[in-house]
Amino acid sequence: MGTSVSEFKARATEKSGDLRHRQFIRTALRGYESARDRRKHAFQSWESARTAAAATKWQAVNHLDEHLIALTGKLEARGTKVHWASTAAQAREIITQILRDKNARSVIKSKSMTSEEIHLNHALEAAGFVVVESDLGEFIVQLRHETPYHIVFPSMHLQRGEIRELFQRELGNAPSDTPEDLTMVARRVMRQKYLQAEVGFTGANFAIAETGMISITENEGNSRLTSALPKTMVTLLGIEKVLPRFADLALFLPMLATAGAGQPMTCYNTMYSGPRQPGEPDGPDEWHVVLLDNRRTELLADAEQRDALHCIRCGACLNVCPIFRNVGGHTYGTTYSGPVGSVITPHLRGLQEWKHLSNASSLCGACTEACPVKIDLHHHLLQNRRNAATAKPAALERLAYRALGVVAGDPKFWWLAKKIGWLAQPLHAVVEGTALDPAKAWTKTRDLPPMPKESFKDWWRNRK
Ligand code: SF4
Repeated sequence: MGTSVSEFKARATEKSGDLRHRQFIRTALRGYESARDRRKHAFQSWESARTAAAATKWQAVNHLDEHLIALTGKLEARGTKVHWASTAAQAREIITQILRDKNARSVIKSKSMTSEEIHLNHALEAAGFVVVESDLGEFIVQLRHETPYHIVFPSMHLQRGEIRELFQRELGNAPSDTPEDLTMVARRVMRQKYLQAEVGFTGANFAIAETGMISITENEGNSRLTSALPKTMVTLLGIEKVLPRFADLALFLPMLATAGAGQPMTCYNTMYSGPRQPGEPDGPDEWHVVLLDNRRTELLADAEQRDALHCIRCGACLNVCPIFRNVGGHTYGTTYSGPVGSVITPHLRGLQEWKHLSNASSLCGACTEACPVKIDLHHHLLQNRRNAATAKPAALERLAYRALGVVAGDPKFWWLAKKIGWLAQPLHAVVEGTALDPAKAWTKTRDLPPMPKESFKDWWRNRK
């Protein structure tokens, strides 16, 4: 996917004009909203829970160095091999080398947005490995050669009929379009792949510093199979996933399930503390944990936006965002879409190249209100805009604001500007929408408000 402003605008224009897509996404998210609101009542106080979660993440992120040392020490003590990757390229190299060392031919993966962030599938396939996604939504988008549409619901943009056609075309089997039949088709294909794969790959939802454990939550049981069947397991996680204490999961697991999918708890919650120990019946013989920085420490150094590292990737901010609901997930052209993606992508991939995402926001604040860990998302979008403009001011914009400063700072100029506006208004009505309309670009998607009949000053004076 492209990254330029013009590509983003073209995709946004196309998607927001696609009424079928908009209606479909709205219907899907309406069900989520009612379920989430019902589940919030299971908390004694959702607001207090948010405050506690934000405080815990603040503590975790502000003592990240200590927590990471504690985590890795405990993991290694039980035989886990811990790797540190400063960049996406390093993480890809480490994982590729593990697969080579194991003489692997295929790898089965459970859902991991962090692996999407480092473009792992592409790298592994280029190195000659067969990669199979085992999460149903991810499996579907993989068959379509697409990236996930949403960080929690990767294939939410597809209808059952489209999935049936896809399975018929790619797998030669789609007896009907009922969810049960389609799931069974995918299940039969995947079971085979599980038995063939030499390496299982997982992401992680949380890492516990106190006990040296990785927590994975899922609804399909595919992560458990990914870690139980292949002899070697590889887990990739961003360093910000760490929580200080095991007891913190008592808050974060139900909170993630509620904010993410309107569930009381995700169906499967598994803790991993090391490879199979002597006498244990299952589990991998070897477990590698790859800790990824990829510019997270740069974000950590940014005191203003550090709280963006609190994100638990629940997707709640996407679900309530009026922009996401109209333009859809693929329009962003990023791994992380919606408000959180617009905040962190400029940090992870470059401010100037991705600043347009921070402009694609109404700044309504719905995302900040929905975020379970209280990330100040809409203010961070404003800060990104400011930082981008400060680092590389646009000459025309600077000139326009300077002119506005001069006009607004002098009553004579202001009076003159008003008069010009009043005179120009009827003329504009004549040329509106034609090639001669100087405001055509603006009025294409917005109204040009009429000038008031009198200024506030005149109104005040006339009112006596
Ligand atoms: S920013 Fe908040 S609401 Fe958005 S995905 Fe992260 S935790 Fe969820």
